[in-house]
Amino acid sequence: MSKITSEQMRFWSPEVRELQPYVPGEQPKIQNLLKLNTNENPYPPSPKVVAAVQAVLENSADALRLYPDPDATALKQAIAKQQHVPVEHVFVGNGSDEVLAHIFKAFFVQEKPILYPDITYSFYPVYSQFFGLSANTKILPLNNDFEIVVDDYKQPNGGIIITNPNAPTSIALGLSAIEEVLQANPDSVVVIDEAYVDFGAQSAVDLVEKYDNLVVCQTTSKSRSLAGLRVGFAIAQPHLIAALDVVKNSFNSFPIDRFAIAAAVASFEDQAYFEAQTQKVIASREKLVAQLTEMGFKVLPSSANFIFTTLATHDAGELAAKLRAQGIIVRHFNKPRINQYLRITIGTDEQNQRLVNTLKNDILA
Ligand SMILES: *Cc1c(COP(=O)(O)O)cnc(C)c1O
Repeated sequence: MSKITSEQMRFWSPEVRELQPYVPGEQPKIQNLLKLNTNENPYPPSPKVVAAVQAVLENSADALRLYPDPDATALKQAIAKQQHVPVEHVFVGNGSDEVLAHIFKAFFVQEKPILYPDITYSFYPVYSQFFGLSANTKILPLNNDFEIVVDDYKQPNGGIIITNPNAPTSIALGLSAIEEVLQANPDSVVVIDEAYVDFGAQSAVDLVEKYDNLVVCQTTSKSRSLAGLRVGFAIAQPHLIAALDVVKNSFNSFPIDRFAIAAAVASFEDQAYFEAQTQKVIASREKLVAQLTEMGFKVLPSSANFIFTTLATHDAGELAAKLRAQGIIVRHFNKPRINQYLRITIGTDEQNQRLVNTLKNDILA
């Protein structure tokens, strides 16, 4: 983007002049690039997803002329069936980033502060600022093992958001800890962002029926290989879904287009494919962790489709730069506490082997 002068900025809303937007992992166009920086799935979506999109085009001349179903009912039904919850417990949005934005607006704009960890999904501080909550956000440090300190979440608050497994640490929190947080906060909404839950953590969806203050958020972007589709969802009791609907219908009535509805339905209906791909990623992760550990890397215990790792003898930023020079992109966060770590997305076995070989032969040799 070209530099905007303050003279030109006089047209901007004053609060927008101050916003510090989220910086997504880069999507560079380099040949023979190995992209292990944005936690995308290395496998394609189910073939049934592709067929469903083609069917929308072929079977319906009205595919693009007519608005889609504003409630995306077919999609909600497919999610409800796969998650074993009533359809009234489902909310869908244009990626879980949008669902999270609606969650912040619907529940967190309160007098009391919202709580989340110091090391977590970097979109939360962006939304805190976007919704005017920066001064009303309490950032709670993870412990030295990068674990959530459950007792910290037993103080007065206007809402809590926890990523599980956490990002970028990859560490999962047990359901009993989550229940402890839910029970300690009967008057505020507790959001569990489960973007990576399918890669080995326990989902809190089963707790939704028991807790009237729980919202669980998931996405099709990682475990369902549909990052390009933009479909995310939340599961909660109907009185919370109703608030999300009020926000959604005050912002964009048609967030999910006809192709996205059809494709995501097909994905949720092909559970066998989903489970097979997820298991492959988990198996590849375990292999990669073993190899890196043998090379001297410390790898945090991962329940996600990425790992968080550090090498005592090498600066993480330099390692990332050297990998990049070899066409391999990983994520380095130049932030306090984690600037000596790399977040590496799990690829196919072949891709992971290229990473290991490059480290061994070209960088650490
Ligand atoms: C990827 C990610 C999301 C966003 O997912 P989309 O559905 O692609 O918007 C939300 N939360 C966390 C923790 C993520 O890593």
